[in-house]
Amino acid sequence: MKVERVKYGDMDNNAYLITDEASGESALVDPGFFDENIERVVNEVGDKLKYILLTHRHFDHILGAKSVKERTGAKICIHPKDACGLSHAGFSLAQSIGVSQSALTPDYTFNETSKVRLGESTLFVIETPGHTVGSVCFLCNDCLLTGDTLFRLGVGRTDLPTGNYSQLKQSLNRLYEMPGDYKVYPGHGNTSTLDVERTMNPFMIEARNK
Ligand SMILES: [Zn+2]
Ligand SMILES: [Zn+2]
Repeated sequence: MKVERVKYGDMDNNAYLITDEASGESALVDPGFFDENIERVVNEVGDKLKYILLTHRHFDHILGAKSVKERTGAKICIHPKDACGLSHAGFSLAQSIGVSQSALTPDYTFNETSKVRLGESTLFVIETPGHTVGSVCFLCNDCLLTGDTLFRLGVGRTDLPTGNYSQLKQSLNRLYEMPGDYKVYPGHGNTSTLDVERTMNPFMIEARNK
C-alpha cells in the first residue's frame, strides 16, 4: 500500500491518495477542495478510485468530494455522526465562511467495525471523537491518517460545534496505546510519527496525565 500526500488550498490542508499497488485500486482521503492538485491526481487515477474517505464533516475536508465522485464514480464514505456536514453547509461550517455547498448524501457510512478493501489491502477505521463527534482516523499498514484529530505537535480545535476536549484526550490516549510506531499523516501540516507525538506532543502528554 502506498500513501501519497496531496497538498491543497490555503489552509495547509492535505489529502492523501492511498493505493493498493497490486491492483491499482485506490482511495482519496479528504479532498477538501477540487483545486488543480486534486484534479491532477483524480485524472491520473480515473476509475481506479474506489472510495472518497472523509475524516470528518468540516468544509475544508469535504467540499471537493462531489467533483471527485463525478469524475471517477468513487463512493463517498463518512462516519454517520458527521454525515450531516455533507448535506448542510451549516454543519460543515461552509456557511460561516460564506462558501456555498451542494447537498450530498454518503454512499456508505462507516464505524469502528468497518473495513475498507482496496484489492488485497485493507484499511481500518478508528473512531476518534473530540475535534468533531464523528471524527475518525484511518489505519493502513504502518500509516495512520489522523484528519484534524492529531497534527504534528498539535491537535484540532475543540471549540467548534460538537467539539469536546475531554473526548479528544480519550481519543489521543487510544492512539497513544496502539502497539508499535506509525507514520502519522495529518489533515493539515507536516507528516510525523506516532513515537514523536508520544514523546513531544504537549496535548498527548497532557492526555496521558489526565
Ligand atoms: Zn476540522
Ligand atoms: Zn481542517
